[in-house]
Amino acid sequence: MTENRAPARLNAYVCDGGHFRLPGLPRPACDHFIITIDCAEGVTPFMVKCGNCGRMAFSKMYRIAVAIAPTHEWYWPDETADLPEGTREHVERGGLLLRPIEGRGRWLHPDALRLDQLIVDACRPLPAAA
Ligand SMILES: [Zn+2]
Repeated sequence: MTENRAPARLNAYVCDGGHFRLPGLPRPACDHFIITIDCAEGVTPFMVKCGNCGRMAFSKMYRIAVAIAPTHEWYWPDETADLPEGTREHVERGGLLLRPIEGRGRWLHPDALRLDQLIVDACRPLPAAA
């Protein structure tokens, strides 16, 4: 699958948001988020470490409601020889690697976009059309 590029897929990772947030409980984490784009075909993880607070940020499973410029990209490394062993094994099993996109690769404050607009998952159905 090196000739045909996969269509660009956007995803979001939200710090402890969405899946594990229970109504009425204070938010345990910072809600910062990134928007990722898949630049290669491969496997992406369910969670990544939050670049703001160090807790875990969870995938929105490619279900995001708004288009916003991606901040990070999943890529396939050209060379695996120099990678740490665990990372190399991850890549050899089809896993992609995450890197910031130059100039805008930072974790975004939740105020950058209302989370209600960002998060569309099984727990929060899209509003029905009028
Ligand atoms: Zn965080």
